[in-house]
Amino acid sequence: MANQESTMEKIVSLCKRRGFVFQSSEIYGGQNGAWDYGPIGIELKNNIQRAWWKEMTQLHDNIVGLDAAILMHPRVWEASGHVENFTDPLVDCKKCKQRFRADQIDQGKLAKKECPECGGELTDVRKFNLMFKTNIGPAEDTASVIYLRPETAQGIYVNYKNIIQSNRMKIPFGIAQVGKAFRNEIVTKNFIFRTCEFEQMEMQYFVKPGTDEEWFNGWKKQRWAFYEKHGIRMDKLRWHQHGPDELAHYARDAYDIEYEFPMGFRELEGIHNRGNYDLTRHTEFSGKDLQYIDQDNGNERYIPFIIETSAGLTRNVLMFLCDAYDEQNVAKSGEAEDLRVVLHFHPKIAPVTLAVLPLVKKDGLAELAREIQQELKDDYVTDYDQSGSIGKRYRRQDEIGTPFCVTVDHETLESGTVTIRFRDSMEQIRVPKAEIASRIQREIKAYKRV
Ligand code: ATP
Repeated sequence: MANQESTMEKIVSLCKRRGFVFQSSEIYGGQNGAWDYGPIGIELKNNIQRAWWKEMTQLHDNIVGLDAAILMHPRVWEASGHVENFTDPLVDCKKCKQRFRADQIDQGKLAKKECPECGGELTDVRKFNLMFKTNIGPAEDTASVIYLRPETAQGIYVNYKNIIQSNRMKIPFGIAQVGKAFRNEIVTKNFIFRTCEFEQMEMQYFVKPGTDEEWFNGWKKQRWAFYEKHGIRMDKLRWHQHGPDELAHYARDAYDIEYEFPMGFRELEGIHNRGNYDLTRHTEFSGKDLQYIDQDNGNERYIPFIIETSAGLTRNVLMFLCDAYDEQNVAKSGEAEDLRVVLHFHPKIAPVTLAVLPLVKKDGLAELAREIQQELKDDYVTDYDQSGSIGKRYRRQDEIGTPFCVTVDHETLESGTVTIRFRDSMEQIRVPKAEIASRIQREIKAYKRV
C-alpha cells in the first residue's frame, strides 16, 4: 500500500495531471478554498451524485427530490440560527498578521495571548460568522443583505408544506437535494476536503415525534450500507457520536461517519436527529402554520421531527479517490521495480467504464475499434486511445480507474473476438464482439472490491 504521508500529494498531482481537479483561477496564482472539476473529475462527481440520488429517491417510494435556490430570504438564516450561531472563534496575530481558529491552537498559548507561529501578541477572541454575505439589488445597504446558503437543508424545510400538498406526501417521508453550499472557512488545507464553495447531498426525513429514534437508527444503517455497496474499504470507516459539547444548537443526537483520510479520521457525513427545532423556528419567524395534519388519524396535528443525512459531495469525491488510490509493484521477480498506479473505483463510480484500444493503428484495426466503440457508447461512458504501446495505454486507463479495456487485434479481424482486460486483476479474456456489452454488464453487477 502507498506511503500514507505522501499519498495526499500524489493524489493532488494525479488529479491535476489527468484532469480530475484543478486549482481555481490557477493562472492568477489560485483562489483559496475553491477548486475546478476537470473532464474526468466531473464524470466522477456526477457518478457519485447519481449513485446517491438513486439510493435515496429511486429506491425509496416515499422520498422525493428538490432543487431549491442558493439565494434565500435573509430571515431564513435568522430562523435557522445561522446568523447567531454559525461562527468560529478567531484570533489574529498583531505582529505576523496570521489568523487562527482559537479552538485549534495550543490553549496555553491562547491563554497567554501568544502567537503559536511567531510568539507575537494575539488579539482577543472574536466570533466570526462563516456565512458569505452580499447585497442584492442596486443599493448596498443593510436592507439589501443576502447570504449564500451555508447548507442545503433550509431550502427543504421552507418547501416542506409545498411538497406535502403538491405530491400528497404522508409521514414518514423524505426530501432529497444536492447542491452548492458556501462557508467562509478560515483553514482550507487538505485539497478539496474543506473548501469555501462545496456541494452537499442532503436528505431530510420527516417523522412522527416518538418514532424519531427508530428512524435515526435505521438511517444510520442505510447510510453505512451505501458506502459498502459502492466498494469502499469498510475498515476505513468508523462512527463518531457527538458529545454534549459538540452537538449543534439544533441537534438532539448526532453521529458522523468518519473516513480515514491520509491526514487521519475525518467527518464524511453526518446523521442528525434535529427534533422539531427547524420547523418550530420557521413557524415562529414566518408566522405560517407548519404543522402536519395526519388525515389517517383523526386529523391529529403536530410538528414533525426531522432526521437528516448530510454528506459532502465534493468531500466524497476526495474520499473515493483516497480509497481507490493504490500503487503496485508489478515487476517480475528479479526485475527492477515497476510501479503501477491504479484507482480501484467501483465500476459504477469510475469516470470511464471502458476504453477501446486497437493493438496497432494500421491494418484497419483503428477503424474497427472506432466502430466497436460507437456501438458501446449508448450504454457506457467510453474512451478511445490509439497512441503509444498497449502496455502504456493500459497504465493510463489504470490511473483514472477504468475497470475494463477492450482490445482489438488481428484476431478480431479473423474471428470477430476481442480481449477484455480487467483493471484490478490485469487478467484478459476473449469474447465475441457482439457479447461485449452484456459481459460488461454482468461484470459490473458481480463486482467486488479486492
Ligand atoms: P466540519 O466539522 O468538517 O466543519 P460540519 O460538521 O460543519 O463539518 P455539516 O454542517 O454537518 O459539517 O455538513 C455536512 C457535510 O458537509 C459534512 O459532513 C461534510 O461532508 C460537508 N462539508 C461541510 N463543510 C464543508 C466544507 N467546508 N468543504 C467541503 N465539505 C464540507
